[in-house]
Amino acid sequence: MKKYDLIVVGGGISGVAASVAAGREGLSVLLIEKYGSLGGAMTASLVYPFLHYTRDGGKHLLSDGLFTEMRNRFKEYNDESWECYKLVFDDMVTEAGVEVLFHSTVFEAKTIDRKVKKLKVATKSGVFEFEADFFIDTTGDGELIAMTDCDCQLGRESDSLCQPMTTCFRVSGVDRELFMKDKEMLQEKYKEWQRDGKINNPRENILEFGGPGNGIIHFNTTRIVMHNPVDPFDISRAEIEARKQISEMMVFFKANSKAFEKSNLVSIAHHIGVRESRKLKGVHILTQQELKDCTAFEDTIALGNYPIDIHNPEGKGTTLYYFKDEEFYHIPYRSLLPKEYDNMLVAGRCLSATHEAHSAVRIMPICACMGQAAGIAIALACKTTKNTHTIDISTLRTMLKENGAAI
Ligand SMILES: Cc1cc2nc3c(=O)[nH]c(=O)nc-3n(C[C@H](O)[C@H](O)[C@H](O)COP(=O)(O)OP(=O)(O)OC[C@H]3O[C@@H](n4cnc5c(N)ncnc54)[C@H](O)[C@@H]3O)c2cc1C
Repeated sequence: MKKYDLIVVGGGISGVAASVAAGREGLSVLLIEKYGSLGGAMTASLVYPFLHYTRDGGKHLLSDGLFTEMRNRFKEYNDESWECYKLVFDDMVTEAGVEVLFHSTVFEAKTIDRKVKKLKVATKSGVFEFEADFFIDTTGDGELIAMTDCDCQLGRESDSLCQPMTTCFRVSGVDRELFMKDKEMLQEKYKEWQRDGKINNPRENILEFGGPGNGIIHFNTTRIVMHNPVDPFDISRAEIEARKQISEMMVFFKANSKAFEKSNLVSIAHHIGVRESRKLKGVHILTQQELKDCTAFEDTIALGNYPIDIHNPEGKGTTLYYFKDEEFYHIPYRSLLPKEYDNMLVAGRCLSATHEAHSAVRIMPICACMGQAAGIAIALACKTTKNTHTIDISTLRTMLKENGAAI
């Protein structure tokens, strides 16, 4: 059985950042990903674009370091297609010496006392076991959190309902100018079609972004409520229901706007987008009050100012709390730290935060920063105390700043 310094489970943006950061610090790193490319929600669920990562009218970066490097390397491909991020991530992990295991799903963890010891992985050639000194859960859904019985919360605290799921889709060949003219009319028609039962999507309006790439419109508008993203049958039903909503939307667009006359449905995300599922209940649970108060922590490892953005888990409506352009909140290292283990961290969507705080800090730029912080924290633990609970926080923050973090 091969042994590593660190195993990172999940190759989304947070897992890529964690493994690259640790690899660059000289650790032997295995990154395990159930699909065949990196990016997670960003690529498999087509999530686009990067939301709020600056403040003061774009003058200062809130998310920097590896996240900026990712954006710069994307630009070097000179191709606006979001797909190029798959290439960027391959480049970055390879250069950092990270070993990547694709098409492999971690399904069991062995723990002894306060240590995670081994993982069982379903691969193309059956079950493999891997051992490491440290582990990071960047699975979005907190799969390692569940396998190791860490304290966690599914969805909101009152009833475990999660934010809605959304299958993103992209349409090519849209006459963009005409679409912009028709947009208001389409929003009204959409409500009419909902009232007539021709559209079964409970979302209150059509949510769309221009791009990525020429002549493409990205739709983030399907809405599946009251389904549990970590129940295998529920998520299967959700995938089908969301694609049905896409089919209704395409009929709707073609029937109501000439802008769609020559359009084609070019892509449907192959994994429904999951906004929220399991979240760690770690050493610190980040709250919306701390975000609203812009509470600064001694162990801040990432910043943000994306709004508290709660898509109604039960149906229509989205609740938004906006931060002023100069305001920003902090994410502490303790929100990546499980109470139960001395050699495990989480990063990205499964961090320790309440339902409300999570709705803000789950965006991709912040996930990348959390991932980088987790990778560097493990490198520090590996070289010093061998314990994620006792690392020197000021050294961690110094290392993060040396690696470009905007904290
Ligand atoms: C519909 C929707 C719209 C959004 N819109 C935006 C937006 O416009 N801008 C923005 O910045 N953010 C947006 N977000 C939020 C953002 O996309 C995610 O929160 C973020 O990408 C999560 O990154 P992550 O790395 O934590 O997890 P993920 O990207 O989910 O990555 C987890 C990875 O782990 C792998 N994995 C899971 N379980 C296992 C296992 N057992 N073994 C091996 N591998 C495993 C998965 O295959 C996946 O690749 C949106 C999210 C959704 C769902």
